[in-house]
Amino acid sequence: MSFLRIDRAVKQFGGLRAVDEVSFSLQRGEIVGLLGPNGSGKTTVINLVSGALPVTSGEIWLDGRRLTGLRCDRIARAGVARTFQLVRTLPSLSLMENVMITAVFGRSTHWGEKARRVAEDALATVGLAERASAVAGDLTYIDQKRLELARALAAEPEILLLDEWLAGLNPTELAEGVALIRRLHEGGLTILMVEHIIDAVRALCPRVVVMNSGRLIADEATEAALSDPAVVSAYLGG
Ligand code: ADP
Repeated sequence: MSFLRIDRAVKQFGGLRAVDEVSFSLQRGEIVGLLGPNGSGKTTVINLVSGALPVTSGEIWLDGRRLTGLRCDRIARAGVARTFQLVRTLPSLSLMENVMITAVFGRSTHWGEKARRVAEDALATVGLAERASAVAGDLTYIDQKRLELARALAAEPEILLLDEWLAGLNPTELAEGVALIRRLHEGGLTILMVEHIIDAVRALCPRVVVMNSGRLIADEATEAALSDPAVVSAYLGG
């Protein structure tokens, strides 16, 4: 059985069908890239799965449970966490406070010491343990991104949705970021990642789904997709 199943999802914004009858599934433990040119509907799919936006029609299931119609806090409790393309950390709070908030509102409703331990683990996973008491607004760009990821991890998700988490990193940071995502995947997390950096997608994702103008145009092995004429032509604006 599929772990995440998106079944004919539609998202209509006025006259624009940003997501048009999109269906695909992830098995538990899989890591899949979500590709497509700008404006093709990738972030909207992430918004639908995480419950940030309601679907216009269609259904989304996680581990046999229907997510459609649930509020985003319920979806977080069901085990879905995501990062935002523009980081949403709370600049005046410490790193620990930033991460404890999602530990409290995540899958397991941790409080007090337990929330603190979960938050410490999440900060350690992304390499920010030493800076737990620093103020988020003082962080460099890469550390903001790490914190954003730690916030998602502190919710103890079963599936992690990454929205261009690797964008804007320098080559060294990118290599570290790829290694970090690989470790999370090897630790058993199911991951759906929107990503434009093709080398990173190749390194991490055996399979990709590709969108163009709201529609799914490919769902196949990464190398096959990258040479698929429909995918090539979508990227060339064809
Ligand atoms: P991608 O992530 O592939 O770049 P998006 O999902 O962000 O694409 O956007 C798909 C289309 O939906 C774009 O035309 C975008 O302008 C539009 N769109 C996205 N979010 C909204 C919204 N909240 N309201 C209206 N239009 C939106």
